[in-house]
Amino acid sequence: MAVTQSTPEAMFIDGKWIESSSAKRIPVYDPSTEEILAEIPDATNSEMDTAIAAARRAFDLDGWPQTTAQERGRILFRIAEKLRAEAPQLAELECRNTGKPIVEAEYDIADAATCFEYYGGLATKVSGTVNPVPDNALSLSLKEPVGVAGQIIPWNYPLLMAAWKLAPALAAGCTCVLKPAEQTPLTALKLAGWLPELGVPPGVVNIVTGFGETAGARIVESPRVDKIAFTGSAAVGKLIMKSAADTLKRVTLELGGKSPNIFFADADFEAAIDGALFGVFINQGEVCSAGSRVLVERSIYSKFVEAMTEKARNIKLGAPLDRETKMGPLVSREQYERVCKYQQLGRSEAKVAIGGGQPAAFKRGYYVEPTIFYDVDNSARIAREEIFGPVATVIPFEDEQDALRIANDTPFGLAAAVWSRDIYKALRMVKAIRAGIVWVNHMQPTYVEAPWGGYKQSGFGRELGLHGIDEYLETKQVHINLNEQPI
Ligand code: ADP
Repeated sequence: MAVTQSTPEAMFIDGKWIESSSAKRIPVYDPSTEEILAEIPDATNSEMDTAIAAARRAFDLDGWPQTTAQERGRILFRIAEKLRAEAPQLAELECRNTGKPIVEAEYDIADAATCFEYYGGLATKVSGTVNPVPDNALSLSLKEPVGVAGQIIPWNYPLLMAAWKLAPALAAGCTCVLKPAEQTPLTALKLAGWLPELGVPPGVVNIVTGFGETAGARIVESPRVDKIAFTGSAAVGKLIMKSAADTLKRVTLELGGKSPNIFFADADFEAAIDGALFGVFINQGEVCSAGSRVLVERSIYSKFVEAMTEKARNIKLGAPLDRETKMGPLVSREQYERVCKYQQLGRSEAKVAIGGGQPAAFKRGYYVEPTIFYDVDNSARIAREEIFGPVATVIPFEDEQDALRIANDTPFGLAAAVWSRDIYKALRMVKAIRAGIVWVNHMQPTYVEAPWGGYKQSGFGRELGLHGIDEYLETKQVHINLNEQPI
């Protein structure tokens, strides 16, 4: 049934708000109060199929891929402008729904706008090549959109992840079926409501809500979807890859990490402490690239743990909308319970410098204490498994070789950081670390212009930058015979 107004109770399919036929509703919470903010549908298979059919039609029949790159670029610029104009309400909504501090939510919305702007500009720069074949022929490589993209995103950066997925896909000429995380669908739905007025034709972007095992799985198994772009856990990434194999879809996966943040004794000490804290505690540690393994050279180890602990005491937990708040609650009860279990495990596997439990000050909300475990062995579960919460594991190392051995001793390979004033040493580490992103004397800076993605079990494919659009393009070889007479 089509409904007229944009309400979170409905899904955005084929340019319209559609109420789900299923009576089942998924509650969406404010994690700081545990109150319900909205209820969203768990799309049925047939509703998901309707969304996929709309995207298919928009791609195959309605001419979205044939719109000029300039036209698509302008639409993306308009989306960027709209996000900027609506930033205050979007940031507040994101903040309420995820529990992240308002100041961080504001950055996210600004970054989402920048992402649309970047790909708006890039739309007109996609071009093919001429191949130097040894014949009287013209050989071309043309770039064409891959088709219908199924996009499945997590709850830690809801609107930003939607932007990372939608912007390059639309620039390339793909159409999209995007499923937000069931915990945090509100900002993506807000964006959906503006798309018609910004010039996005019906069916080009469909935003469909539901659980992963139902709505998400349906996108992945559909033979009418050409590509899956997924950001989420490694466990679900593996399921997606298996399921996508049946229809040989193109798949890009941005999965978890256990990223090493490596501190040599010659690093700027104050900057290092800030980098260690920021790396693991930003966004409550709910970050795929969190520097959750803090590797510290033995000669500064005790001093480092002490200083990190002292500064961590000043991290102000509080209401997400309070501008003084530095850390909010975790996103959901499920995540809270998961992190609490790891805190408990950590108490048996290592020593506690600070935290390790739940703050007494909060009667409600999924708050956990910023936690630093030290004297952690890299083989401990808290050093090997992604916790996705504000839990640092500090591990001492003896020298460069030892640091490298520990850094690479993980199934993951998303990010790493190296802190040192010795440029030779830092660059040797950069070359030898097996990760898709390596920062030097910095932690977590992320730019839409630079590629993002992992090695090893952190997934494959790259988002952002020039690489980001490539993942939504196919290459077609064209051979043009230039001999007028038969050869
Ligand atoms: P987390 O455990 O942190 O919630 P997930 O990897 O489970 O991370 O979720 C990331 C996204 O993947 C969410 O949108 C979720 O609904 C979706 N998802 C979960 N399970 C599946 C699945 N089996 N198939 C497709 N999508 C899924």
